Amino acid sequence: MSNGSAGEDAHHSPDGTPPSKAWLDEINPFLSMEKGFNTAADLLQIQGGVRDVLRMPDRELTVNVPVLMRDGSVRVFTGYRVQHNTLRGPAKGGIRFAPDVNLQEVRALAAWMTWKCSVVNVPFGGGKGGVICDVREMNTLELERLTRAYTVAILDILGPDRDVPAPDMNTNEQTMAWIMDTYSMHARRTTTAVVTGKPLNIGGSKGRSEATGRGVTISANEALKMAGLRPEDSRVVVQGAGNVGGLGALLMHREGYRVVSISDMYGFLYNPKGLDMPAVRAHQRAHGNRLEGFAGGDYQGTQEGARVEQLELECEVLVPAAAGEQITSRNAEQIRARVIVEGANGPTTGIASDILDARGIIVVPDILANAGGVTVSYFEWVQDRMGYFWTEEIVNSRLEQVMVQSFAAVRATAEKYGVSLRTGAYILAIDRVASVYRMRGFSA
Ligand code: NAD
Repeated sequence: MSNGSAGEDAHHSPDGTPPSKAWLDEINPFLSMEKGFNTAADLLQIQGGVRDVLRMPDRELTVNVPVLMRDGSVRVFTGYRVQHNTLRGPAKGGIRFAPDVNLQEVRALAAWMTWKCSVVNVPFGGGKGGVICDVREMNTLELERLTRAYTVAILDILGPDRDVPAPDMNTNEQTMAWIMDTYSMHARRTTTAVVTGKPLNIGGSKGRSEATGRGVTISANEALKMAGLRPEDSRVVVQGAGNVGGLGALLMHREGYRVVSISDMYGFLYNPKGLDMPAVRAHQRAHGNRLEGFAGGDYQGTQEGARVEQLELECEVLVPAAAGEQITSRNAEQIRARVIVEGANGPTTGIASDILDARGIIVVPDILANAGGVTVSYFEWVQDRMGYFWTEEIVNSRLEQVMVQSFAAVRATAEKYGVSLRTGAYILAIDRVASVYRMRGFSA
């Protein structure tokens, strides 16, 4: 997993002057989430207490956990778990480990999970967790201790029927195995369904690791139909070469797309004739997950400049699949894609989103485009609870069905209200949660 984190470099102004309040507001993920929510809630005419209850998180837990470090010292780490809404089912959402984790960001991500689960109609609410730490400075034993201490600290609100975490930035299937084991020790029985994204031999699901990339590919296919394009005529630029971007690019390559550029946090590859994606993935495996040194394309090294430039390459499909707040008011006018498929969570700021809409670019929003991951997480949870595991073909075909149906529902909602796919997705999601409130009654 990378150490890239949402908007890390975005806080600096290009000329080095202190960032303005307007800019800090623009890259605040919670404000971006609220903007999408408010637009849709206005169109649905949801007001007063119902609007408040949909907007505000159900529960926020902050924990400070001590960890014995390898040098014998004790360090206290701060972590969060936010459950935004659990009306449609247990809270669902990843746990990230990163130095810039903060409550505001976790709160936004938890709310997005509520809307995402609702868009694909899986019976979960939204949650998210994070721990402030730098995994580059920690060894495996320290990470295991931290994971177990954090799990114990949030144990009371976890459980297969309450809150089911998953991996996110800098956490992986090993992290999920430690969480499952810690929870099971306290429950005094093996409880695999308490987390998803686990290794296959302890209750993981076939198809989970590439599920988000597969969902991104299916979303791209559907968006191309709207744009009157075909995969074989489409050049693709992908930001991020990890679980979502790397696997998404590989699957798109297999479906006939021409992937002309892919980046990681150190730089990007470019080949106008198309990159040989299986060879790129093999290169990454052999070179510590990095793209640099791959012979089949030009490589341009890092930093912010290269990253922004990559997003401005001419293409039919742009897939931001790395971090939040990458398409902003600073570069939205320069984007030269016909379709954007948001693999990452919150890669486009609210202001940039308006600019892209005005320019007629079709944007498949994150809460739809990257929902393949949570869909197969749901399948994993179902399989764990049944104790009966599906073949990869069944997982993939059910995922395809969910993604195609969800895309069609979002598109139909957007057309009905005359709005963008993003606003259509929020309307669909919020309306579903609001209707559950109405059915269940408003008293707690
Ligand atoms: P990852 O850590 O596996 O990969 C991230 C990739 O992005 C790495 O190649 C890294 O080098 C690169 N990167 C990081 N910052 C970058 C930057 N500023 N510019 C260019 N490249 C950069 O992470 P992932 O699991 O692929 O997640 C990526 C995004 O997708 C996150 O926003 C995450 O929340 C979201 N997401 C992930 C899943 C999932 O199932 N993994 C599901 C839904 C959403």
